[in-house]
Amino acid sequence: MRDVTYLRPGNVRDAVQLYRTTPGCRPLAGGTDLMVMLHAGTLRPAPRAVLDLWSLPELKGVRRANDVLEIGAAEPYTGIIGSRDAQESVPALVAAARTIGAAQIQNRGTLGGNLANASPAGDTLPVLLAYDAVVVTDRRSIPIDEFFVGYRKTALADDELITAVRLPLGRDVVFRKVGTRAAQAISKVVLAVSREPARIAIGSVAEIPLRARRAEVALERNDIAGAVAAVADDIRPIDDVRSTAAYRRQVTQNVLRELLDAFARG
Ligand SMILES: Cc1cc2nc3c(=O)[nH]c(=O)nc-3n(C[C@H](O)[C@H](O)[C@H](O)COP(=O)(O)OP(=O)(O)OC[C@H]3O[C@@H](n4cnc5c(N)ncnc54)[C@H](O)[C@@H]3O)c2cc1C
Repeated sequence: MRDVTYLRPGNVRDAVQLYRTTPGCRPLAGGTDLMVMLHAGTLRPAPRAVLDLWSLPELKGVRRANDVLEIGAAEPYTGIIGSRDAQESVPALVAAARTIGAAQIQNRGTLGGNLANASPAGDTLPVLLAYDAVVVTDRRSIPIDEFFVGYRKTALADDELITAVRLPLGRDVVFRKVGTRAAQAISKVVLAVSREPARIAIGSVAEIPLRARRAEVALERNDIAGAVAAVADDIRPIDDVRSTAAYRRQVTQNVLRELLDAFARG
C-alpha cells in the first residue's frame, strides 16, 4: 500500500495518456471497492500506481442529450439520486442507487466503478442491462450486453477508461433487490425487468450479471408462467456465504412472477 504512486491528471486526455504509459496502473474513482482491495492486499497483480479520476469534470454530471440520458462515469450515486432528469427518465437506476451501501458509499461510489469492478452482485448492473445501456469509453461505445465477459472480467482493454454511461429515455424498467436487510446488504438476488422490449436481467445468480434469454422469449409471447418456469434454466446460482443456490433459484422465480404480474395489472 505504501509503495503505490498516486497520479492525479487534470483532464481525461492526460488520464488516458498516463493510464497507457504507467506500468501497473489502476484507475481510482470513488475508491469504495478499490481501497478495500488495496488494504486487503487482494489485487493481483498488486497495483504500482493509482490514477485518480474522481475530480475530472468531464467524468461528472447527469445530462439529457437527444434521446438518451448520459451519466458521467465518476458521478457518485448521490448525484444520480438527486438528478431530476435521472428521476424522470431512469427511475429504476435511481432506485438501485438508493440501495447501495449507506450515505457514505453513495457519496463516493460511481457507475464506472460498479461496471469495471464487474461483481455479479453489482446492483446497478442488471438495471443497465434492462435499459440496454451503452458503456462509453475513451475510444468506443460498448453495448452493455457485450460488457461482462467472465467472472469479474469485462470487455475493457487493459488501458481503457470508462467515461460515461448512456441510457435510452422512455423505457419502463422495474428493479428489485433481495438482501439480508433493507439497507447495507449485498444482494442475494437482484432483478431488473422491462416489459417492452422484453428484458429480464439478474444479478448474484451466475458468474456475471446476466440476461435471462429463455425467460425473455416467453415474455415476448406474454407467457408469464412460461417466463417464470424458463428463468430457472437461465440462471446458474451457487451456494456461498450469503445464500444457497436453491434459495436464489426460488426467490428469482418468485420475484420475477411478482414483477411480471405487476406489469400485467398495469
Ligand atoms: C460498505 C460497502 C457497501 C457496499 N454496498 C454495495 C451495494 O449495496 N451494492 C453494490 O453494487 N456495491 C456495493 N459496494 C461496492 C462499491 O461501492 C460499488 O461497486 C461502487 O459502485 C464502486 O464505485 P467506485 O467509484 O467506488 O469504484 P472504485 O473503487 O474507485 O473502483 C472500482 C474498480 O473499477 C475501476 N474503475 C473505476 N472507475 C473506472 C473507470 N472510469 N474506468 C475504468 N475502470 C474504472 C477501478 O480500477 C477498480 O478496479 C459497497 C462497498 C462498500 C465498501
